[in-house]
Amino acid sequence: MQVRIVGAHQAETSQLRFTTLLIDERLAIDAGSLASGLSLAEQLAVENVLLTHQHWDHVKDLGAFGYNLFGAGQAVTVCCTDEVREVVSRQLFSSGFWMDFFTGPLVGRPVFLHRKVAPGGVLAVGEYRVLPITVPHTVPTLGYQVTDAAGRRVLYSGDNGPGCGAYWAVAEPHVLITECTMPTAMTEDAAAHGHLSPATLEEALAAFLRQRGYLPRVVVVHLNPFHEDQIRAELGDVARRLGCVIDVGREGMALTV
Ligand SMILES: [Zn+2]
Ligand SMILES: [Zn+2]
Repeated sequence: MQVRIVGAHQAETSQLRFTTLLIDERLAIDAGSLASGLSLAEQLAVENVLLTHQHWDHVKDLGAFGYNLFGAGQAVTVCCTDEVREVVSRQLFSSGFWMDFFTGPLVGRPVFLHRKVAPGGVLAVGEYRVLPITVPHTVPTLGYQVTDAAGRRVLYSGDNGPGCGAYWAVAEPHVLITECTMPTAMTEDAAAHGHLSPATLEEALAAFLRQRGYLPRVVVVHLNPFHEDQIRAELGDVARRLGCVIDVGREGMALTV
């Protein structure tokens, strides 16, 4: 399984993008940079989209992505909770602002085919098996463990805060992609917004290790660029203490799972 990190930051500039992952060039997770980070041909090759939650930095590009698919006469399946679909339709696709791709824009021919997701049950999505996992954040959020036909497993947690390790432990990934938004000095601030610092990431990984007996390779995204150097230095210390590999994701990074 090949995973491309399209967007790895909690920021958007000409160099940095909001979170999107792309598995084998056809299964996308989150839409923070689903249009801005991919060519038109790459967007049209996406067969399914999984959304973790409705925050702006994870759904922002749905409007542009949907419009590009509409231009090409294509549709795509978007897997998310009813709540995420409702919030995106109401806020992002509201009448007079943009088109609602969950219902149109052509009557009876939506660009986004909504597939309802709930935690617990495994979904067949294309050739993948997808396990949605509840994680603690400020709004209901699902992480996804994606398993390919060869049995390789990646877990992307989405945004999550302190205590998430016990939630991850229902999965058994070879690679864990999670977030680390703020440095340890801002742990309380991060927790108030449902995010991790290196200190709370270390606690989460220790909890996962206690429950599962191993640590997967860890890749961290959703970095706040104002604190990235500090976060990187602290993650190096966490990896040494736990004896695991923690890589810092970046735009364009390719991972083999
Ligand atoms: Zn969020
Ligand atoms: Zn976010």
